[in-house]
Amino acid sequence: MRWKGRQRSQNVEDRRGGGRRMQKVGGGIGIGTILLIIGTIIFGGDPSALLSGLLTQGGQIGQASEQPYVPSAQEQELAELVSVVLNDTEVVWKDIFRQQLNREYRPATLVLYSGSDRSACGFAKAATGPFYCPADQKIYIDLSFYDELRRKFRVGGDFAMAYVVAHEVSHHVQNLLGITRQMDAQRGRVSKEQYNDLSVRLELQADFLSGVWANHAHKRFNILEKEI
Ligand SMILES: [Zn+2]
Repeated sequence: MRWKGRQRSQNVEDRRGGGRRMQKVGGGIGIGTILLIIGTIIFGGDPSALLSGLLTQGGQIGQASEQPYVPSAQEQELAELVSVVLNDTEVVWKDIFRQQLNREYRPATLVLYSGSDRSACGFAKAATGPFYCPADQKIYIDLSFYDELRRKFRVGGDFAMAYVVAHEVSHHVQNLLGITRQMDAQRGRVSKEQYNDLSVRLELQADFLSGVWANHAHKRFNILEKEI
């Protein structure tokens, strides 16, 4: 796939190395601290001493988490790839919206996170895989998913990852077109089986839209190349 050195999207929010925001909100008390407190109680210690100690060095905890995130070379390359692909989706969908629907395409934001993060749709975890949240119109991706693609699903290559981004953008397109809302309106009104059936259709349509994107993107940017 040809993507190196090509234009990147402006709509990427890099939250890698994060938890930063969350740590500030939560006062810097994480699961490790909780385990430490439980451990102290079990071994007959006084957790209040530990707690007051933690609270006074709160600033230090904050500083430690402010350290810049240093991604691996592979991860940095992936970050560039998804940014270029996001830009390609913006160009293609902008054209299609204008020419075929006579309306403006509003791009989604792509959030890069590592480990875990917060979305308007709940907690984002690497294990959940990439997803689109209609409530904040953001796509959440932990780039370690690329390794999972190769290991678990045995698909590799840049285009596999590009397709993942395109698929999530397609869910954004469904949202802009009101399809997601129609689907939500059926929740509780139809049986569980029927709702599952609709969910599958929504996924298949997202795949179809991703195909539409790939076709247009290739025509415009000649992105696909033969495997050597
Ligand atoms: Zn999907």
